[in-house]
Amino acid sequence: FFTEDIEFKSYLETEQMAMAFNKMLSKMRSLDESRQEFVSNVSHELKTPITSMKVLADSLLVQEDVPIETYKEFMSDIADEIERENKIITDLLALVKLDKSSSDLNIAPVIINDLIELILKRLRPIAAKRNIELVFESFRPVTAEVDDVKLTLAISNLVENAIKYNVDNGYVHVSLNADHQYFYVKVSDSGIGIPEESIDHIYERFYRVDKSHSRQIGGTGLGLSITRNAVLMHRGAIKVYSRENEGTTFNVRIPILYQIEAGGKV
Ligand code: ADP
Repeated sequence: FFTEDIEFKSYLETEQMAMAFNKMLSKMRSLDESRQEFVSNVSHELKTPITSMKVLADSLLVQEDVPIETYKEFMSDIADEIERENKIITDLLALVKLDKSSSDLNIAPVIINDLIELILKRLRPIAAKRNIELVFESFRPVTAEVDDVKLTLAISNLVENAIKYNVDNGYVHVSLNADHQYFYVKVSDSGIGIPEESIDHIYERFYRVDKSHSRQIGGTGLGLSITRNAVLMHRGAIKVYSRENEGTTFNVRIPILYQIEAGGKV
């Protein structure tokens, strides 16, 4: 009976190990799949502007006596594609940096009110072009331990989107509040909104709601995954509420004190 008991125990252990091994294997497989999908998406996104540029350049080259206006028009399209390629590469580099471990954060006390004011100052001319009102409401001064470069990136993306996906003469409201533990940044817009079926996907890399519509607006589909990564690195949280044709609100919550967990590294 005793021997049987041991046999049964070791059988159980082997079974448990096999299960754990299978679990690990399937996790590795899914990691590998998402990496492959990411690489294939990156290649596709990087190739698109290059393909367009090639078509534009080729069509100029095969034509004889191209009028200077046509030349200029095609060159301006090529310049747009270069700009797009540049934006994709910049966003990708930001994303790769944020993918590294959170020990890469450069934490220091930052006055969050000033950080937001600076972002809005930079984006105000873009909003003004479409007569979009950009308002900042601050309920109290907040100093928090954050990585100012990464937090600036996170909030800039939200405000840029609130302007981009807005209507002419619309508004963007940014507010800052805090309690004893967290500070809260809210970015609300009067824009086109996000369809319900897209809400769960907006943080995915390269995801854009309406490809054809969004293409005209311009973007890489990387902004919100950058924002989410940066917020998570600060051990924060991000939530979105949206109604089509009414507007969108993003709520970000970040701890005021960045506490290193026991044992040193995070
Ligand atoms: P993009 O570079 O396309 O702006 P993001 O990752 O920042 O990429 O956003 C993903 C998609 O989510 C956008 O393409 C857009 O369709 C939608 N989106 C993001 N922010 C807003 C917003 N404030 N209002 C409406 N749609 C938004």
